[in-house]
Amino acid sequence: MRLILLGPPGSGKGTQAKLLSQRLGVVHISTGDILRQAIDQQTPEGKLAQPYMAKGNLVPDEVVNEIVAALFRRPDCPKDFVLDGYPRTVEQARALDDVLNRQKLHLDAVIFLAVDDAEIIKRLSGRWNCPNPHCRATYNAFNKMPRVDNLCDECQSPLVQREDDREETVRQRLQVFHKVNEALLKHYRDQGLLIEVTGTGDIETIYKEIDKKLAKKRKVK
Ligand code: AMP
Repeated sequence: MRLILLGPPGSGKGTQAKLLSQRLGVVHISTGDILRQAIDQQTPEGKLAQPYMAKGNLVPDEVVNEIVAALFRRPDCPKDFVLDGYPRTVEQARALDDVLNRQKLHLDAVIFLAVDDAEIIKRLSGRWNCPNPHCRATYNAFNKMPRVDNLCDECQSPLVQREDDREETVRQRLQVFHKVNEALLKHYRDQGLLIEVTGTGDIETIYKEIDKKLAKKRKVK
């Protein structure tokens, strides 16, 4: 199964991508995670991306497109995957179409998680992350608390808040998101791939809705 998850920052793309990856046995590819790792390791890509990410802006298309293209050029190129946080612009979507066509891989569906801005601002201010690069579990003070205060359930690392989850940066990220989102949705709607899911409610309910709509889509094909 080859899927893309779209949605505003904090809509739950990461959480649902992780569940889809575990339950469908597909590779989870998050460009945000790849970029944060590049920053931690201070690679040339990381150094380039850092100022854009700190301000809540998109990293230039060429940089992100090359990261994804390089993944698909590898001998162990993922055949089944869920892409989380990529593409974020129509240019990126076109670059991805080219990469997948070259590999003769076709997307099964593009899932859009719809959540309104007020809810996003509330959610991101309560978001906590595990900084362990092998774990990166996410928590939320509103709907997914860790069992022990401030400690990751999976690996017990002390949780941290992302620098770009500060309110003013979140507002900038939302502005960037709205500027390009409609065109991106149209790109996939025109290809008959788009599935829209309400991204509010508890995590399992949202997952079930995704699962139901994916099953319906497979039947129609
Ligand atoms: P995320 O973890 O997906 O919320 O991404 C965090 C930040 O990484 C974004 O605000 C962007 O600065 C950057 N980023 C991640 N994915 C992309 C992408 N596909 N295109 C451009 N910038 C990205």
